[in-house]
Amino acid sequence: MDAPDIRELQRLDAAHHLHPFNDNAALARQGTRVLVRGQGCYVWDADGNELLDAFAGLWCVNIGYGRAELGRAAARQMTRLAYYNSFFQCTTEPTIRLAAKLAELAPGDINHAFFVNSGSEANDTILRLVRHFWAVQDQPRKNIFIGRRNGYHGTTVAGASLGGMAAMHGQGGLPIPDIHHIAPPFWFADGGELPEDEYGLLAARRLEQKILELGPERVAAFIGEPVMGAIGVHIPPRTYWPEVERICRRYDVLLVADEVICGFGRTGRWFGSQHFGFQPDVMTLAKGITSGYIPLGAAMFNDRVAGVLKDSGGELAHGATYSGHPVCAAVALENLRIMQDERIVERAREQVAPYLARRWAELGEHRLVGQARIVGLMGALELVPDKGRRAFFHERGQAGVLCRDNALRNGLILRATHDSMLLSPPLVIAREQVDELFDKTWKSLDQTAARLGR
Ligand SMILES: *Cc1c(COP(=O)(O)O)cnc(C)c1O
Repeated sequence: MDAPDIRELQRLDAAHHLHPFNDNAALARQGTRVLVRGQGCYVWDADGNELLDAFAGLWCVNIGYGRAELGRAAARQMTRLAYYNSFFQCTTEPTIRLAAKLAELAPGDINHAFFVNSGSEANDTILRLVRHFWAVQDQPRKNIFIGRRNGYHGTTVAGASLGGMAAMHGQGGLPIPDIHHIAPPFWFADGGELPEDEYGLLAARRLEQKILELGPERVAAFIGEPVMGAIGVHIPPRTYWPEVERICRRYDVLLVADEVICGFGRTGRWFGSQHFGFQPDVMTLAKGITSGYIPLGAAMFNDRVAGVLKDSGGELAHGATYSGHPVCAAVALENLRIMQDERIVERAREQVAPYLARRWAELGEHRLVGQARIVGLMGALELVPDKGRRAFFHERGQAGVLCRDNALRNGLILRATHDSMLLSPPLVIAREQVDELFDKTWKSLDQTAARLGR
């Protein structure tokens, strides 16, 4: 294949492609980076730059790039039966097998999957089906969802409403009614003088206060990411989730874990809830379910919720043309087969995570870094103006963008949210690549500090 004419591609992109989560005018001036190839933990762009992808695409390429088995699984299924739906009392074999596989992997009695195409749609699904769950039990007023400020649950109307991103609420008239948000657990900014464990309990009890304020008979569910990803890998104190679970049980509020990032090994366990030691009633999944090779999302329900939904006497008026798409299901099954056969989650936990944590902590010693936080294979470096204090830059985000761009020039992809440098490499990252990550990050931090005159 001839090398693409990159300038021509950039011109067409600027003329015809509206990019998600971009300042499109600025992007058009600068020119889009066009990625052309991936292998393992590396991607290559059309200019020939090799980049160590320490962000796994967008938290999703858990098994790494270039696994031909997934392409073969897709081709096999496309050739055999490219599509059939799960409406009309039908379905396909890969869809059934994937539902059963997810039930086997999911914790506790979360045994029932509803398939969609993305994490956002999975969260839309749980909003409707959880409200329906209460309504068919004669509690139609028990319809309020509580989420968290700065939470991220996707970009559809329900997903963005459940999330707590002010910039997203500002576009399109969100949140929709009957969604409330409480303050998230972020000790670095909010913990004051409290020890982390005490702060975790205090942060969890904000949920109890909100439930009591609204009335338990009005609150359907609480939704949270086990680790808040998009806002900057905010890892809760270990006391937080067990206390949230206790509160949800006490007031009969369903506990929804948005496992879109944490699911499929990111924390070193199959699901984030297992790392933090709590049992959700409902979970939403996407990203790592196919390692990003093809779009797929799922909402999963425990026996209690699914039992009510199944026996509610009537049709479940929800679904998508591609709910349980056989090609996506076949790719997901192959991805999960590889993860299990190669013990990718267990190896990430036992072999990669401890070494990565050690080197990440070393990066925490850099003069620009106020906190180096990490759990499993997701982490963040909080860039700060004054290493001695837990305080942010006056002009938020400038240091983060500088550092991200320096990293790119050094052949490394890190994401920046405000001034947090985010880490989420493929789970298969090797020790030498962790060392490369360390060297390139340290160099990028040095260059950023120099630019900032520090
Ligand atoms: C990415 C993400 C979503 C949305 O998933 P999409 O597939 O982008 O719609 C939802 N929740 C969390 C925690 C995410 O990180």
